[in-house]
Amino acid sequence: MNRLIPLSVPNFEGNEEKYVNDALEQGWVSTGGVYITRLEQQMAKFLHTDDVAVCQSGTAALHLALIEAGVNPGDEVIVPALTFIATVNPVKYQFATPIFMDCDDSLCMDPIKLQNFCKHECVFRNGVLFHNSRIVKAVIVVHVFGNIADMVSIINTAHMYHLKIIEDATEALGTKYTKGLYCDRYAGTIGDFGVFSFNGNKIITTGGGGAVTARNPIAVKHLRYLSTQAKDDPHYYIHNEVGYNYRMTNLQAALGVAQMEKLPEFIRRKQINYEKYKQMFDGFELGRMIPFREETASNKWFYSLEINRDKVTVTLRDIITELEKRGVQTRAVWGLINEQLPYRNEYTYKLKKVSYYADRILNFPSSTQITDKEIIYVAEQIKETLERFSNE
Ligand SMILES: *Cc1c(COP(=O)(O)O)cnc(C)c1O
Repeated sequence: MNRLIPLSVPNFEGNEEKYVNDALEQGWVSTGGVYITRLEQQMAKFLHTDDVAVCQSGTAALHLALIEAGVNPGDEVIVPALTFIATVNPVKYQFATPIFMDCDDSLCMDPIKLQNFCKHECVFRNGVLFHNSRIVKAVIVVHVFGNIADMVSIINTAHMYHLKIIEDATEALGTKYTKGLYCDRYAGTIGDFGVFSFNGNKIITTGGGGAVTARNPIAVKHLRYLSTQAKDDPHYYIHNEVGYNYRMTNLQAALGVAQMEKLPEFIRRKQINYEKYKQMFDGFELGRMIPFREETASNKWFYSLEINRDKVTVTLRDIITELEKRGVQTRAVWGLINEQLPYRNEYTYKLKKVSYYADRILNFPSSTQITDKEIIYVAEQIKETLERFSNE
């Protein structure tokens, strides 16, 4: 094969062109238009939630959720150390401080450490949780790679200590519980706020874009208001709050409506392809595929291999470079956020597993268009490469 099999690329095999052309022909390209409302209704229906507000990006959606959660300058927000940096930057936009939490074996936030932090490192006084003298206001939970965090335990802790839960479900649109307390509830609709992204590599895309939902539908209305410059009068320019220019455009939404129509099919393919890869890596000694949480139906957006460090000691960069030569695009999981320059002085709580996984996770091609032949090729190349690099 002489072309690179990509990690995750968009799929526009549906009505994308038709709807975008329609929006163009009608002249509605900006932050008003029927596709925006249609996409919001489509998402609300899909997620079984009352209302959804679409915006410019997942990052903007996270920023809005933090504002609505009442995160003020000087407050603290508990965040994962293992995530994409866009989860954490909006905490800084609010002049608040992140507290970095460890992950469990699902790569999502460790619920036990979260509880221990609240219990042993904080003081709960008059219904407010204090860490040193600062208020701990919220937790941002990330559903990494389409997995879902242990929401039963996390919500339990949040209730106990009056913390707002913001779900960063940017990678988990369509993931849901199939059993237990949250049976049939979708990622992003369990906590106080849920955030989605439609960036180019996500399971559906609008080029750039995002959405935010909330347990309280009045909050979603207010989020939409904030995203459109907080305009309070239909005729005069009256603004009673500081607003943002975070609204999605109708052109993006036209793309989004077509993509939402395909979402169930995309999820189906991701799930099938995951099983095919799993078969290929079955019994492979040098790496194992990270499973998705039991009693859930994951969108299986991104696949990851945990490399066996007892046998393969070369760097991830060596592995990625070698696979690129063989026509397979792979990547390492993110650099830990607490190790990035703007975050090096922030508080971390007993980080352990995040470093373990950061040194071992390799993501490999998961696009919905990938063929069976390509899946076999990718798995074979990864296996051969790891075997070549293994110590024995
Ligand atoms: C993609 C992503 C975001 C940000 O979404 P954008 O739409 O790119 O702003 C936030 N968090 C995580 C975990 C992501 O993967």
